[in-house]
Amino acid sequence: MSKKDICSYSFEELKEEIARIGEKDFRSTQIYEWLHVKLAESFDEMTNLSKELREKLKEEYEIAKVKMIDHQISKVDPTEKFLFELCDGNMIESVLMKYNYGNSVCISSQAGCRMGCRFCASTIGGLERSLAPSEMLRQIYQIQKMTGERVSNVVVMGTGEPLDNYDNFVKFIHILSDEHGLHISQRNITASTCGIVPNMKRLADEGLQITLALSLHGSTQEKRKRLMPVADRYELPEVLDACDYYFEKTGRRITFEYSLVEGVNDQMEDARELISILRKRNCHLNLIPVNPIKERDFKKPDRKNALEFKNKLEKNGINVTIRRERGSDIDGACGQLRRRHTAANEGEPDEDICND
Ligand code: SAH
Repeated sequence: MSKKDICSYSFEELKEEIARIGEKDFRSTQIYEWLHVKLAESFDEMTNLSKELREKLKEEYEIAKVKMIDHQISKVDPTEKFLFELCDGNMIESVLMKYNYGNSVCISSQAGCRMGCRFCASTIGGLERSLAPSEMLRQIYQIQKMTGERVSNVVVMGTGEPLDNYDNFVKFIHILSDEHGLHISQRNITASTCGIVPNMKRLADEGLQITLALSLHGSTQEKRKRLMPVADRYELPEVLDACDYYFEKTGRRITFEYSLVEGVNDQMEDARELISILRKRNCHLNLIPVNPIKERDFKKPDRKNALEFKNKLEKNGINVTIRRERGSDIDGACGQLRRRHTAANEGEPDEDICND
C-alpha cells in the first residue's frame, strides 16, 4: 500500500490525522511547521518530535519530493528556470523571477496539458497527469531552499490548466496561504485559466482573494476558437460572464492575457474589438508577444506594431501593459524546457530547439 502524501494535507486535515493516530494536538502545529515553514524533506529532520513518533510517521506517510534535473540562469535578467522530476519520472518546470518588490515563482499545475492552445509548447504531448497539492508546493519550497531567498509572489502560469485540476489547486492555495505555513498572501497569488467556465464560477464562490487571469487571446468567439480549442466548449460571452461573476464575488480585478500573434490577432480591428470588450470592465490587460515554438510557425509582431496596438488600447482608457520579456536567453516560453528534455529523450537533436 502506498504511503499517504502528508504535504497535501491542509492544517485542519493534518490535525485530524494527528488525532486519529493518537497524538497530542500540538504535534500537528510542529509537523506543519516542519513541512511548510522549515521545508523539511524527511521526518528525521523533525528533531523536536520523539524518535518513536518519527518512526510512526515514516511508516504511514511520505513527504513529496521533486528532484532538480536542470537549472538555467538567464544572463540578461534575474530569471532562473528549473526543471524538476516527480517521483514517477514526469517532468515539470518552474521559473523564478526576481523583481524589486520581491521574488515571484511561476509553477506548473499539471505535467502536460490537454487544453490544446495552438501556440503553447506545454500542450503538445497532451496531459500526463495532474499534480498533487504537495507537488505544486514543492516547486516553491525547492526554489526557496536553493536560492535561500523568500518567495513573496506565486503565479500559476506554468504547464497545465489549474482549473482542470480544481480540487488540488484550491487545496494548494489554502496550504500556501495558511498562517501556519509559508503564509503567502492570497493577494500575491495569481492563477491563469484558459476559461473553464463552471470552475471559474466555483472558484469565485470559494471565498479566496487570489487574482484570476483569463487567457483571452482572441477578441471574438471566432478568433478565439482559432487559437484555443477550449473556446468550442465555453463560448466567449459565457467566459466573460464568469469573469464578471468572479469580480463581483471577490472584488478582485481580472487580468486578461492576450498573446499577440502576427497576422492572427494583432490588427487594429482586433484592438477595436478588444476595447469594446474591456472598456466596460474593471480589469487589466497583459499583452504577451507570442514566444515562438518550433512546432508551430506563429510569429510575434515587431516591437513597433505591438506598441501601436498597446497605444490604441491605452488611448481608449484600457489599463494595459506589454509583458516584459523575461529570460529570453533560456527556454523562456511555457513548456519549452520540459519539451526539450522530453524531445531529447525521444532522440531528437538539441540544436533544433527554438529559442528567441
Ligand atoms: N492553462 C493556463 C496557464 C497557461 S500559461 C491558461 O491557459 O491560462 C500562462 C499564459 O501564457 C497563458 O495565457 C498562455 O496562453 C500563455 N502562453 C502559453 N504559451 C505561450 C507562448 N508560446 N507565447 C505566448 N504566450 C503563451
